[in-house]
Amino acid sequence: MYVQILTIFPELFESFLTTSLMGRAVDEGLIDIRVEDLRRFTTDKHRSVDDEPYGGGGGMVMTAQPWLDAVAALTDSAPATPRRILMSPQGSRLNEAKIRELAAEEALILLCGRYEALDERVLETIVDEELSIGDYVLSGGELPAMVLVEALSRQIPGVVGLADSVENDSFREGLLDFPHYTRPREVAGLMVPDILLSGDHARIEAWRRQKSLEATLRKRPDLLSRAALSKDDLQTLEQMVQQLGLPWPRGLQRPA
Ligand code: SAM
Repeated sequence: MYVQILTIFPELFESFLTTSLMGRAVDEGLIDIRVEDLRRFTTDKHRSVDDEPYGGGGGMVMTAQPWLDAVAALTDSAPATPRRILMSPQGSRLNEAKIRELAAEEALILLCGRYEALDERVLETIVDEELSIGDYVLSGGELPAMVLVEALSRQIPGVVGLADSVENDSFREGLLDFPHYTRPREVAGLMVPDILLSGDHARIEAWRRQKSLEATLRKRPDLLSRAALSKDDLQTLEQMVQQLGLPWPRGLQRPA
């Protein structure tokens, strides 16, 4: 996968792209990430990327020309037609389904905004899609781009050491992850559940499924109506709802 990031602060990506799993993925060529300084595409001697807004009001607006020239140049040098994404609080909310969809793309260009806004004509001409990481406003698109790139990288085989640890991630099958334990057996008077020490893999799997269902029911019941659930899962949920005194999750069909 090829990802071009366009920003006025390329230095923000230095440690991100050289540390931990991401650093290894880049080193080993599992993901090709390039960071481009938008100011390289400016044409005035001050290398300016912003100007006052037409109509007045506070905040500066990023001028269209550097974005248009940069995206044209980056598109030419990409190995495939890139999907051009503006990180924006106005975009659709990033989620696991979107990450998987984007991970299937050969090339992406991520535009990181700053200041009050980008000139609207950038959005009208060279942006395929706006993506948000949540309903709050940050000062720039760099952190959202890092969030997106890190989530994408986890979808690439080999980036996360044990494939298993991605398989079990939250949202994978529309459910949250089950609880995990490691040594020692006792912490603050709390013991590791006996079943995890039993060596009985089938029972451990069943326990983990049940705990995933329970975590989702307690913390994110809204996910359940879209999760891939078996008849047994629905029956387990029915029992849990009764035992825990919780309401039946909205939109989820009750077992017959
Ligand atoms: N005035 C803009 C608005 O209300 O839509 C916010 C501009 S914000 C200060 C500057 C840049 O930060 C945006 O262009 C975008 O690239 C990025 N940004 C801020 N919050 C974001 C979010 N929740 N998700 C993705 N990008 C975000």
